[in-house]
Parts: sequence; C-alpha cells; structure tokens
Amino acid sequence: MSTLKDPRTLFEAIEPPAQIQEEPGLETEATPVPDIGLDSYVGHGRLKGRKALITGGDSGIGAAVAIAYAREGADVAISYLPSEQKDADRVIKAIEDAGQKALALPGDLIELEQCEKIVAETVKAFGGLDILVNNASRQRWQEKLTDITDEEFDKTMKANVYSSFRVTKAALPHLEPGSAILFTSSVNAYSPSPTLIDYGVTKAAMNNLAKGLSEQLVGDGIRVNCVAPGPVWTVLQPSHGQPQEKVQEFGRDTGLGRAGQPVEMAGAYVYLASDEASFVTGETIVAAGGGRMPF
Ligand code: NAD
Ligand code: MG
Repeated sequence: MSTLKDPRTLFEAIEPPAQIQEEPGLETEATPVPDIGLDSYVGHGRLKGRKALITGGDSGIGAAVAIAYAREGADVAISYLPSEQKDADRVIKAIEDAGQKALALPGDLIELEQCEKIVAETVKAFGGLDILVNNASRQRWQEKLTDITDEEFDKTMKANVYSSFRVTKAALPHLEPGSAILFTSSVNAYSPSPTLIDYGVTKAAMNNLAKGLSEQLVGDGIRVNCVAPGPVWTVLQPSHGQPQEKVQEFGRDTGLGRAGQPVEMAGAYVYLASDEASFVTGETIVAAGGGRMPF
C-alpha cells in the first residue's frame, strides 16, 4: 500500500469565517482551531536530554515546536503573554504528557527584565539551556505608513526585535558547544506586505541577526539558524494581523493553494536544533507552500 501523502490535500484548505479577536488572541477560540500537532506529531528521540526555551510557545508555530521538541525528548520552557494562559495550559500538559519537564513563563517581553527573567528561570528549572527559539512577535496591519503611530512602531520593534536581542543576549553565557539558536522570520522578510511595513522590517531583522550572529558563534560550536514561514493559519492573523477580507482568503494564493498549519513548521525547527543539522549554520529554511524567495 502506498504511503505517499499529497501536500495539496494533506491538510485541509481552510475557509476561515469572518472573525476578530483582540491582540494577541486565543488560538483555542479561533475558527478553525490551528493544528499544533497535539494529535499527530510523533517524536523520534532527536532532542533527547536537551533543554529548550521557546518564546511565544503558547500557540501557533511556537506551540507546535514546543510539542515536537518535548516528543523528541527535550525539556521545554514556553514564554507567552499572561492573557494567553488558556492556550499555554494545553501546551504545558502536552510537554508533561510526553514525559518531559515543562516550564510556564507568562510575562511581557517588551520589558527587558522579563527577557532576562525567562532565561534565568529556565536555567534554574532545567539546570541549563541549549536550545533557544526566538519566536514571539506581534503583527498589526495598517493601510498606510502614515497610519502607524510612533508608539505602535516602537511596540512592534520592542516585541519582535528587542525581545529577540535581549533574550539571546541573556542566554548566551549559558550556551555550550552543541547548542542551537533559532529565529522565526517570514516571507515578509523577502517580499513585504504593503500593509505590514513595521512587521516586515522586524522579520528581515531576524534573517540578518541569524546570519551575523552565526558567524560570531560558529567558532564556539554554537549554530544559529532561522525559519521563514509563509502563510500559516494562527491566531496572529485574526487578531488585527490582517484585514478581515484577507483573513477569509488566508493562504489560498500559495503554490499548494492552501494555508499551512503550525505543525507543518515543526520539522524544520526540530532539524535545525538537532545534531542532524551539525553542518548547518547561518541558514534560513523557507517553508511557504511554494513561491520562490530571493536568496
Ligand atoms: P501566534 O500569535 O500563535 O504566536 C505569537 C506569539 O508571540 C503569541 O502567542 C505571544 O505569546 C507572543 N508574543 C507577542 N507579543 C509578545 C510580547 N510582547 N511578550 C511576550 N510574548 C509575545 O502566531 P504565530 O503565527 O504562531 O507566530 C509565531 C511566529 O511566526 C512569529 O514570529 C511570526 O512573525 C511568525 N510567522 C508567522 C506566520 C503566519 O502566517 N502565521 C508567517 C510567517 C512568520
Ligand atoms: Mg498566543
């Protein structure tokens, strides 16, 4: 019997109804609920004994990565905003059900103290840290550049760029040879949406940060890489991430003709964190369902 799975139909071509939530939104209240791999991800011990910290690990791509890492044998800490506790609870349970240690780290990464605290608490709880996934981000659409207030711009930079810089800076003294740092970029880094100007800038920054830092750390035996997803159905989109009409047709313009699901991103993050990627650093894996990105 054939085991082939057609990527066009492996996941449903979703047709989200009109919906809007306040930022950052609850994934468990999105329609349809994004697939973070709770019922499907199967681990193979690729991250046995590792200690991971994932920002934005309560929902979407970060949650799928958290579940995958735990099922691959890692202890996993997730950071998220306090309003997302309900989403985080499912992920914490899934990590524990996989037989691993879980750590819940609610708090706002716009604050420097919180960025430093999540690293310190992870190291304390797990006795170290060797995989850092910088994944938390906000995305708020605006029609025109002139609609973006200075405060909004600042908030996006702080939530996306400053948080990644600060968490990474706090983590570095704890990372030993063999450790891995990952950033979450986006196709917006290459081909920015005109209604996501500030967000696009922060995603290009993730690619750049990963490349520059990879050269700085390669001599220490620490690899730094990036994943750039295309349209993936998460609550980021209906919580002011896209205009309503774009939410309803989200992802239909990909080569595969459908949006991706968070669980479809997990494999790239597992690979880049694992020893299987021992010769890969300074790289970005684009997972976008088709459509070539510039080099
Ligand atoms: P998501 O909303 O499920 O996850 C984003 C998380 O970021 C939130 O759950 C929240 O916990 C965290 N966050 C935001 N602001 C924060 C703050 N100030 N302090 C602490 N945490 C904060 O959405 P997602 O789509 O899974 O997003 C994950 C990553 O994927 C983001 O970096 C996003 O830019 C990237 N991405 C998403 C898509 C997509 O289509 N969904 C495409 C490309 C890239
Ligand atoms: Mg969330």
